[in-house]
Amino acid sequence: MADGANKQRAADRQAPADAPIWDGLYGSDADGPYIEGGRCAACGGMALGVREICPHCHAAQQMAPVKIGRRGTLYTATVIHQGPEGFAAPYRVGYVDVEGGVRVFAHIDNGSAKPALGQGVVLTIAKLRQRQDGTTLNGPLYVATPGGS
Ligand SMILES: [Zn+2]
Repeated sequence: MADGANKQRAADRQAPADAPIWDGLYGSDADGPYIEGGRCAACGGMALGVREICPHCHAAQQMAPVKIGRRGTLYTATVIHQGPEGFAAPYRVGYVDVEGGVRVFAHIDNGSAKPALGQGVVLTIAKLRQRQDGTTLNGPLYVATPGGS
């Protein structure tokens, strides 16, 4: 029994678990991945994440979690040729407009082709960064949908 637990701990050290690049940023359910958003009960405004104070009406403790960002529209994008440690450059990043006026900064995949602004994108979760300890950090990767918007 203890031997099995020791073997499991050794296996955990050899293969570090994947982790989210930002705790609470995204989740997944039967419909696939989503971004964690917040909706204000006082004004209906939405934000990225559940905020203690609504960024629209400044009401306190009124935001409740809501799943957003499964699909969006590309607002702008650029290519990063020299990335921070752990990111495999070159890679594309951009802003994606999702429901409720929320704009999400994320990695963008359109293969080697330059995506069109206003193009429709679909959320996926992908490995974005590799830490020195071997841990892989996962996060949002919006993939351009065939045929554009
Ligand atoms: Zn509000």
